[in-house]
Amino acid sequence: MRRITVLGATGSIGDSTLDLIDRDRDAWQVVALTGGRNVALLAARARGFGAALAVTADPARLGELRELLAGSGVEAAAGPAALVEAAERPADVTVSAIVGAAGLAPGFRALAQGGRLALANKESLVAAGPLLMAEAARHGASILPVDSEHSAVFQALAGEDIATVERIVITASGGPFRNWPAERLATATVAEAAAHPRWSMGQRISIDSASLFNKALELIEAREFFGVAPEQVEVVVHPQSIIHALVGFVDGAMMAHLGAPDMRHAIGYALNWPVRRPLPVRRLDLVALGALAFEAPDPLRFPALRLARAVMATGGLAGAAFNAAKEVALDGFIAQRLRFPDMAAVVEATLDRLSADRGLTIAPSRLDDVLAMDHLARQTAGAIVQASRT
Ligand code: NDP
Repeated sequence: MRRITVLGATGSIGDSTLDLIDRDRDAWQVVALTGGRNVALLAARARGFGAALAVTADPARLGELRELLAGSGVEAAAGPAALVEAAERPADVTVSAIVGAAGLAPGFRALAQGGRLALANKESLVAAGPLLMAEAARHGASILPVDSEHSAVFQALAGEDIATVERIVITASGGPFRNWPAERLATATVAEAAAHPRWSMGQRISIDSASLFNKALELIEAREFFGVAPEQVEVVVHPQSIIHALVGFVDGAMMAHLGAPDMRHAIGYALNWPVRRPLPVRRLDLVALGALAFEAPDPLRFPALRLARAVMATGGLAGAAFNAAKEVALDGFIAQRLRFPDMAAVVEATLDRLSADRGLTIAPSRLDDVLAMDHLARQTAGAIVQASRT
C-alpha cells in the first residue's frame, strides 16, 4: 500500500484523484485530505476514504469540521499552518491541487519528505520555479506534472535527452471566446467565461483558460519544469484538445501526446509513474475525429501570452508578481468589479509599477522572498483594481 495525501481534495483535481483512488482502494492508504470552504465535502471524503487527518484552510470552519467528523477517528485541523502540517505527514505521494498561491507553501514542504509531489498547482512553479526544483533535488524528491500539457511533454520526453529538444509546443483549446470579436469581450460574464468548451475544471482555471492566462502560466511552468529557454516554448491553439503537447527534437522529429480531455489521465500517470496502469479514460476514435485543427493565438484579444513572455525575460520575482496580480484581477472579474479585458490591463499595470523600483529582477533565495513579492503584488494590483472601479 502507498500512502497518499491530497491537498485540495474538495476541488476538481481532488475529485478526479479520489475517483482513481476509489477504483484502486487496496493500493492506497489516505493520510491527509485538505479543503477550503467546503467542509461538508471534506468531512464526507475524509470519512469515506478513512483519512487520518482532514484540514480546512479556514479557521472559522474548524468547529463545523470537528462536528462533522465526530466519532469518525479522523483528526481535524484548520488554517495555513495546519495545511503545511498535513503536507509534512509522511506520505509516498502528495497531490498538490490547491488553487492559487495558497498551494505554494504546503507543496514546498511536502518535498522535504523526499517522496513524490504530483503537481497540479502550476502557480507554485510560476511563482517559485527555481526554488521548488532545487528543493526537490535537495531532498531527492520527484515532481510529476499533473497539468495535462506538461504531463504530455514529460511522456514525450521519456528516454530522451533534454539537450536534443529544440522546442516544446503546448496546446490551448482557445476557450469559450476563441471566436469572439474584441468589442464583445468587454461584455463577457463570469458564467460565459467559466463555460469551458472541452474541459471540466474549477471556476478559476476555467476563467483563466478563457483569458489565456492559464496558458500564460503554463508557458512559464514549462520553462521552469523542463529547464528550457523561453524561446523554446510555444503555444498553438488546438480547439479539439486532443493533442496536449508536442516536443520537437534536433533531428526534426516531433513527438505528440494525444488523449481524450480527461484529467484522470495525467493524474493517473503521475500516481503510477514509472509504470503505466489501466485508466478509466475514453479511448480515441481517430476516424471519428477526422481532422485536427491548429491556429495561432491572437495576441491582441488575449494579451496574457505576451505578458508571460515579458515575465520570463525578467526572471527573478516577476513570476510571483504576475501570478499574484492575475489572482487579484481574477477576483475582481468574479466579483464583477472588472470587465473581462480589464484583467490583463491590471496585471500589466501591476508589473509596470513593480518593475520601476521594487526589485522584480532579484532572484529569490528563500520561499519568504516569494511570499513577500506575492503580498506586495497583491497590494499593488488591489490598489489598481480599486482605482479602476467604475
Ligand atoms: P478547484 O477550485 O476546483 O479546487 C481548488 C481546491 O483548493 C479546493 O479543494 C478548494 O477548497 C481549495 N482551496 C481554495 N482556496 C484555498 C486556500 N486559500 N487554501 C487552501 N485550499 C484552498 O480547482 P481545480 O481543482 O480546478 O484546480 C486546482 C489546481 O490544479 C490549480 O492550481 C489549477 O491551476 C490546477 N489544474 C487544474 C486542472 C483542472 O482540470 N481542474 C488542470 C490542470 C491544473 P474548497 O473548494 O473546499 O473551498
